This record gives sequence, C-alpha cells and structure tokens, in this order.
Amino acid sequence: MRYISTRGSAPSLGFRDVTLTGLARDGGLYVPESWPSFSRDEIAGLAGLSYVDTAVAVMTPFVGDALTRDELTELCTTAYGRFAHAAVTPLVQLDHDQWLLELFHGPTLAFKDVALQLLGLFFERFLDGDDAPLTVVGATSGDTGSAAIDALAGRAGVDIFMLHPAGRVSDVQRRQMTTVLAPNVHNIAIEGDFDQAQALVKAMFNDRDFSGRFRLSAVNSINWARLMAQVVYYFYAAVRLGAPDRSVAFSVPTGNFGDVFAGYVAAKMGLPIERLVVATNVNDILHRAISAGDYSKGGVRQTPTPSMDIQVSSNFERLLFDLGGRDGAALAAQMTGFDDSGAMRLTNAQREGAAGLLSSDRVDLDEMTMAMRWACEEAGEVIDPHTAIGLAAARRAGVDAPMVTLATAHPAKFRDAVERATGTRPTLPARVGDLFDREERFVTLPATFAAVSGWIAERATCKA
Ligand SMILES: *Cc1c(COP(=O)(O)O)cnc(C)c1O
Repeated sequence: MRYISTRGSAPSLGFRDVTLTGLARDGGLYVPESWPSFSRDEIAGLAGLSYVDTAVAVMTPFVGDALTRDELTELCTTAYGRFAHAAVTPLVQLDHDQWLLELFHGPTLAFKDVALQLLGLFFERFLDGDDAPLTVVGATSGDTGSAAIDALAGRAGVDIFMLHPAGRVSDVQRRQMTTVLAPNVHNIAIEGDFDQAQALVKAMFNDRDFSGRFRLSAVNSINWARLMAQVVYYFYAAVRLGAPDRSVAFSVPTGNFGDVFAGYVAAKMGLPIERLVVATNVNDILHRAISAGDYSKGGVRQTPTPSMDIQVSSNFERLLFDLGGRDGAALAAQMTGFDDSGAMRLTNAQREGAAGLLSSDRVDLDEMTMAMRWACEEAGEVIDPHTAIGLAAARRAGVDAPMVTLATAHPAKFRDAVERATGTRPTLPARVGDLFDREERFVTLPATFAAVSGWIAERATCKA
C-alpha cells in the first residue's frame, strides 16, 4: 500500500515511512492511494474473532509488507494486552436500540490509547537499527498527550515534546502527562488555547530550518497509523450487532475529525454503516460545514468537553480530499484560501458526497447534561461529558438501525463535570494508581513560535 498527500505534490510513501512522518512536505496529510475493500463474506468471517484478530484482519491491507502477519499480531497482542477489559472495546446496551462502545479501557482512560499504544510499538519496531532519534512534537487538548506520553515514555530513540493549553485540561488529564518523569518526556503548557498550540506544531513542521534540523514525527491524528488503528473498532462493534446482514449507525463526539474519519474509512472498505453522526459541542464548525457547507472559524469557547473545543479540525482535510474527487491541486487551493481568510465553502461534490453517509448535530451544555442524567437514571451508566455529546446527538438522529455512541473517555477523567451533572462522583480506576500524590514537571511558555521552537531546539537531538 502506498500513501499520497491530500495536497498532491509530496512524494508517496509506504507504511513504515508514513508512520514515522507527520505532515506531508506539501503541507497535506497522507491517505492511502486507494481504499481496500472487504466483501460481505470477509466481513461475515470476522464474527466471533477476538479484538486482536479483528485488528490484524482489518489493518493488514494498510500495513502491506511493512510487517509480517506474525509481527502485526505480536504488536497488537502487546498493545491491547494493556487494556483492562478482555473485549478491549466492549459494547454496552442502553435501551432497545441505543448502545455505547466503550473505548476507554486503556491505561490513560480515553480512546486515544487504542491507537497510541500501538503507534508507540510501531515507532519502536520501525526505528530498530536506525540511529537518528525521533523528535515527536504534538499538541493536545488533554487526551492525546496523556495517551502518547504513556505509550512513548522511556522508549529508546524517541523524545516527545507535548504542548497543552495551560489551565484548559482537567486535573486528571494534566497529571497523567506531567507526572511522567521519564527523561524523554517534555511537557509544555502554552499560554493560549488548543488551536494556538496546534498551529504552533504545524508551524514547526512547516518551518524548513526547524524541520531540517530534527527528525520530526507526529502523534496527533494527522498520523495515518492512528486513524488506521481506530477503523478496527467500527468493524468489531458492527459485526457484533449484525453486520454484514444489518447496517449499524455510529454517533461520534468530534473534535479533530480523526475518530469519525476512521468510521468513514470503515464505510469505504465496505462495512455497512447506515449513518455517521458528527456530534459537536457549541464549537460547531464541523456541524456548520456538514449541514450548510460553511467551514468558517469562530472563537473557541471553553466547555466541559475540552477535547472538542476546537475550531480547525485537521482531519477534515482528508474527508474533503476524498469527497472532492482526490484532486490535490484543487484541495491545496481550497485549504490555502481557508488559511488566509479563516473561511471556505464546501464544493457541491463535497456536500453531496458527505450527505449520503454523514449527518451532524450541535449539542449545547443543557442537552449534554440531560444526556448524562438520562444515561444515569434510565440505563444505570455514568458517562463522561464527551460521550454525552455523542449520546444526545444519537438519541435525536432518527436513524432506523442500531445506534452506537462512541464512549470516548472514562467518566473519572472528567470527575468534576460528571458530578455537577449527575450528583455522582466517579472514582478513578485502580489502574491509574497514585496520580494525585506524584510530583509534576512542566514548563509554561507564551504561545509564540520563537519561544516554543527555541525551547524545543535546545533540548531535542539534531539529525546526524
Ligand atoms: C480526542 C477526543 C475526542 C475527539 O476526537 P477526534 O478524533 O479529535 O474527533 C472526543 N472525546 C474525547 C474524550 C477525546 O479524547
């Protein structure tokens, strides 16, 4: 399998290189040059497989010959062996047609672990025998950072620099990052919001001087391997609910459009997905884009769902590329226009392409609270605020198919918000240990390119 850039002018790469790279050299994102397709029989053949075996079957066409089947199985077994539930991503039934897909049984209590535990192992495997150390630079609204740091702490040949918006992540999220004292882990609190942190990371990748000096790599969902690992649970869940004979709908609490793009990929591969609901909070750029073709930035409003407090969704570019006939030059022009003006219109082809599969919804604070209470009182499930955004959208989507809301975080990761909404304070699972007694280490920097790139340059290892 080869991977091509959404902006059409970077070299194509194989799986190993696409995993170790971040943004494409032309500023685009890598996507497979074509979608592998699974027949009805192949999907039926996934019935009853373990999570690891499902993962190997779904990912093999993307990995190609970069790993043998045995190697891929070994890495998946290690990654998913760290999950606290034998099913890795279990389904929970809420009422007769509403389900939760619990993606938070990994070490840092959010769905990011599903991909990042595996990505950490891919890095280690692919770097074997390579001497230039990898400099991972990322921005997080909380969950990517903790999951990436857990996956990479102490690994040889990798340094990780993680930017988070100061004061805008939950105390559990912050401590899961800042109490990891391994010498290859560097936490930077940015005096700004997540979009500023993400823009700084993009600027470092795009700066020739900076990116020329270090072997930069990404763990944000611009990294293709992360999305690939997330495609697996759509198959795993849908097959358990009757695919390929019955189609299934998913509601996805969305920020950077990574998780829902993985669902789009599953549909492209032949999984019968009735509908993908893109659920946003009041930071609703994606809702406006999908419902009205209007992709224009507003100011970011802080909410109890920090992982969705985003105005620019990096992975949306992958969708626009695929829906727009995979015309890299046209997409590059569209994205440059957006970068300059902060706004763009979707083309008719993009809008019509989206309409068949995707719908969207915007869920405000009251609706989120109601969804948390409904889950608690009617179904006996305490859910986190992000999951509640997805559930609120799922319950009013009006889809005639089993509806699965992706439960993206453990409620204990957002204890204060859960307690405010439901009166119940979730307890931290034993696997997070003595998080609140550990020493923290991080630096606070202004949200400027000079300050952040300078601080990192002093600490990262130059290429040979
Ligand atoms: C990252 C995250 C999201 C948003 O996922 P995207 O892939 O960025 O759309 C939603 N909920 C939680 C808890 C998250 O950590």
